[in-house]
Amino acid sequence: MGNRVADRVVLLGGSMCGLLAARVLADAFAEVVIVDRDDLTDVTGPRRGVPHGRHAHGLVARGHQILEGHFPGLTEQMRAAGVEPGDFNGDIRWYVNGRRLKPSRSGLVSVPATRPVLEHHVRRRVQNIPNVVFMEGYDVAGLATTPDGDTVTGARIQRRTEGSREEVLDADLVIDATGRGSRTPAWLADLGYARPEEERVTIGLAYTTRHYRLRSDPFGDDLAIIPAPTPDHPRGAFFYKLPGYGGRIELSLTGMLGDHPPADPEGFEAFARSLPVPEIYEAIRDAEPLDDPVSFRFPASVWRHYERLGRFPERLLVMGDAVCSFNPLYAQGMTVTALESLTLRRHLASGRLPRPAAFFRDVAANVRGPWEFSAGADLGYPGVEGRRTPRTRLANAYVARLQSAAVHDARLGDAFIRAAGLIDPPQALLRPANVTRVLRHMWRRPAEDDAGTRAVRQSDAVADV
Ligand SMILES: Cc1cc2nc3c(=O)[nH]c(=O)nc-3n(C[C@H](O)[C@H](O)[C@H](O)COP(=O)(O)OP(=O)(O)OC[C@H]3O[C@@H](n4cnc5c(N)ncnc54)[C@H](O)[C@@H]3O)c2cc1C
Repeated sequence: MGNRVADRVVLLGGSMCGLLAARVLADAFAEVVIVDRDDLTDVTGPRRGVPHGRHAHGLVARGHQILEGHFPGLTEQMRAAGVEPGDFNGDIRWYVNGRRLKPSRSGLVSVPATRPVLEHHVRRRVQNIPNVVFMEGYDVAGLATTPDGDTVTGARIQRRTEGSREEVLDADLVIDATGRGSRTPAWLADLGYARPEEERVTIGLAYTTRHYRLRSDPFGDDLAIIPAPTPDHPRGAFFYKLPGYGGRIELSLTGMLGDHPPADPEGFEAFARSLPVPEIYEAIRDAEPLDDPVSFRFPASVWRHYERLGRFPERLLVMGDAVCSFNPLYAQGMTVTALESLTLRRHLASGRLPRPAAFFRDVAANVRGPWEFSAGADLGYPGVEGRRTPRTRLANAYVARLQSAAVHDARLGDAFIRAAGLIDPPQALLRPANVTRVLRHMWRRPAEDDAGTRAVRQSDAVADV
């Protein structure tokens, strides 16, 4: 154990954020108690408290590095369980506007586990930490505080069995990791505090996901086929091998601004057929479905600005999606949560309980870059409401050019994957070497630009959905 800070910390929520925070807190507290409404230990599949876990979840490169740092050998542990890691640019077939980005070895590791599989492996490692306790099947009803409401002293919890009563779980520190539906804003209001300001970007997104056993192999040596949505082609997909493959795949179709992938099998297939990349529809049309399609709606990205609050109770922190839930298409959520776990570790290093104001300032710094990257890109869709500064417009126009150039220039694909993977800041895309390469490709003639890169002509691909 590192610097002992206090006796007991209670984590509300035991999903990715709760688990990564628990890893760090276990070095600083005698006891780490994770409270969750779901059963967690030994669960390997989707669960009710995380309905989004049924849909494609990619861990981007920075997140993989942090997880491997927290749990050395995690990647090998997953490989032994049938997950096939690969290179982010060399082993994933990325398409933008129907054109394949030129592959190369980026040196960044992609671990294409499903969300429940990734969470299961992380949770197994947390379960092995002796001073972490799981309280499963408990609802969090609220906070316990001193009579003046200045300091949080624990959490009010209730077992999800009939006839059970609310009980108070005392704690030196309480951390809300209950995700997007977090009740902290309402609890603050009940205690006489202001709620955090909410910044929203309405995107009207939905995922619809189905699993199949394929009769043909569209992947070759690749792990996944990902047509990324763009303002020109807002329909997208994540199509990848399930752990232990054997022809089994997960396909998440995505649609923005109310253009949602249907959950009836015919509508689902027709939507797949309308993608600007033919191989996904061709692979599933004669495949064996393993389940029915399920949908998840994500109306808006939301950032709760706790760092702007003037007053906040002591001994309470908020992390993960409870602070910011990003447009999932950019796959940032778990990695930002991982970055926040490093922030938490830094704040505990002093040997004292973290002060909320300072902690929230640093969490806002974790969130800001990824938020600007994804919310800024969303403003490239004409139907997304929000203020478009000249800088946003310029950035979106430049990124579109860079992606087009990355069809021919693997160095630009790598640069984009490093920025999207939160390895490099988005400004790295503007390094002189990258700008020069983008300009060089802008001068290509259109015929030259099209040669051999387009998966299919749009007129061939669009189906009536
Ligand atoms: C469709 C979709 C796809 C996504 N894809 C990606 C991706 O590709 N890559 C990526 O990095 N991120 C992705 N994300 C985001 C990612 O899921 C989250 O960022 C990540 O799960 C961290 O969330 P969290 O732990 O803060 O909250 P959650 O995962 O929402 O977990 C909250 C936990 O709190 C528990 N809980 C909630 N309320 C209570 C209560 N009152 N009492 C007791 N327990 C409670 C729940 O049971 C749950 O276990 C995606 C999100 C969505 C919606």
